[in-house]
Amino acid sequence: MSEARDVDVVVVGAGISGVDAAYHLRRDCPERTFVVLDALESFGGTWLTHRYPGVRSDTDLYTFGYSFKPWTGDPIASGERIREYLREVIDENDLARHVRFQRRVESASWSSAENRWTLRVRDLTSGDVETYRCEFLWMCQGYYRHDQGYTPDWPGLDTFEGRVVHPQQWPEDLDLTDQEVVVVGSGATAATLVPAIAERCAHVTMIQRSPTYFFSGENRDELADQLRALEVDEAWVHEIVRRNRLAQLKMLTDVALSEPDFAAQELINLVRAELPEGFDVDTHFTPRYRPWQQRIAYVPDGDLFKAISSGRASVVTDEIAAITPHGVRLASGDEQRADVLITATGFELSVLGDVHFTIDGEVLNLAERVTYRGMMFSGVPNLCWIFGYFRAAWTLRADLVCNYVGRLLNYMRDHDLHRVVPTLRDEDLAETPLAWIGDDEFNPSYLKRSLHLMPQRLAKPEWGHTQDYWYERDVLPTLSPEDDCLVYD
Ligand SMILES: Cc1cc2nc3c(=O)[nH]c(=O)nc-3n(C[C@H](O)[C@H](O)[C@H](O)COP(=O)(O)OP(=O)(O)OC[C@H]3O[C@@H](n4cnc5c(N)ncnc54)[C@H](O)[C@@H]3O)c2cc1C
Repeated sequence: MSEARDVDVVVVGAGISGVDAAYHLRRDCPERTFVVLDALESFGGTWLTHRYPGVRSDTDLYTFGYSFKPWTGDPIASGERIREYLREVIDENDLARHVRFQRRVESASWSSAENRWTLRVRDLTSGDVETYRCEFLWMCQGYYRHDQGYTPDWPGLDTFEGRVVHPQQWPEDLDLTDQEVVVVGSGATAATLVPAIAERCAHVTMIQRSPTYFFSGENRDELADQLRALEVDEAWVHEIVRRNRLAQLKMLTDVALSEPDFAAQELINLVRAELPEGFDVDTHFTPRYRPWQQRIAYVPDGDLFKAISSGRASVVTDEIAAITPHGVRLASGDEQRADVLITATGFELSVLGDVHFTIDGEVLNLAERVTYRGMMFSGVPNLCWIFGYFRAAWTLRADLVCNYVGRLLNYMRDHDLHRVVPTLRDEDLAETPLAWIGDDEFNPSYLKRSLHLMPQRLAKPEWGHTQDYWYERDVLPTLSPEDDCLVYD
């Protein structure tokens, strides 16, 4: 084992959140030393792992992009374009020298005697173990395992004679020309893949257990186009369009919450208008949940519906009973032939990057802890995570958390404090803990499957986790580090 490397802050993850954290540390805490560690071979996280055809954002980049870096492309962007954007942020802010790739953080141990985290880090190129020590640990690990996606355990899967592919591990040599392809899934990934591969396959069938809400429209922003035609500075364009998009999102969210049936019908009507006369929208595009209980995926230029209308793609809504050597048997008894089976069936949730945590020798089970404002955890010293929004752009929350952490670190510096521990007060101990997120609020299956692994919350703002950007936009920027829920040393 090599000598320990000491820094003030370790950031785990060099995805869009980790790059945000690094930018804010440089800007807001320039005297702090820090390192960003990531298990992957480069930056980008999600946008590096997902390389399937057509991979793109499902929220617009005016809001998914950072507040401080103007977005100048189409609102919905390809994975490659998002990585270019991140590369520019890294270059413009001299962040590369802080980042170490192919470093998996395996364990983190807190010592109260030293007020330090000690991290055991695997160098994935050599297999060696490195040690990093830091005062503050900033987890930007995302919410799912990058090295494996989720594939249901269908009976007969091992008998399938074709190729099974998870979009998270898209093989470079996969040739779909003239192949019968089945894509299992109904979310944004399936909706992106189907039109992207439809042209070259013999036929592509999307098999979904239940339908999803989609929102479709041109992949351009009229206001941005107008402002650019007036030669408005890009920083202004970004800010104005960002505000406009957020105002529209707020309107859509309010209607979805106050008049869910109306909102559902409007969304379904939009889809109906894009499909051929007589298409069975009731079966295939009428979800069983309320809008906003899952993210509404944006279909730029209606490409999914164009692929279906052209006859090159089709949708089947049914349960999979079994996988057969040559395809899929459905609960209805129908068989669907497949040469290639693409399992766009979601993620394996990862809590705190699967790092083994101990605090003064005791193993940390995060599921037993209560979150402090969705950023820190009861009894866990000097640690913060970035967990973004699902319904609005993830990064909107990352930006808010980054600003808070900067103020927290500066407060600790100014008051010569070396430890901050979110601590439940007597009146909090009487409260009944709640799940990280309410089932009626947001319920995609990857979260439902693993909700028992997530930290808890209380029905109080200080111990809450909310997915309400408009609430947090007002509250987090004014949140003082002087709070009786935070115990300093
Ligand atoms: C195809 C796709 C499209 C999406 N589109 C959108 C969208 O349009 N809008 C939106 O808001 N959200 C979208 N999301 C959700 C998206 O994942 C997040 O918004 C965002 O990219 C998450 O960024 P992150 O940096 O927090 O996490 P990630 O992108 O998951 O990055 C986490 C990084 O941490 C590293 N890491 C984790 N654990 C360890 C460890 N123990 N040691 C070292 N490194 C570790 C990982 O290697 C990874 O690089 C999309 C997701 C997918 C899969």
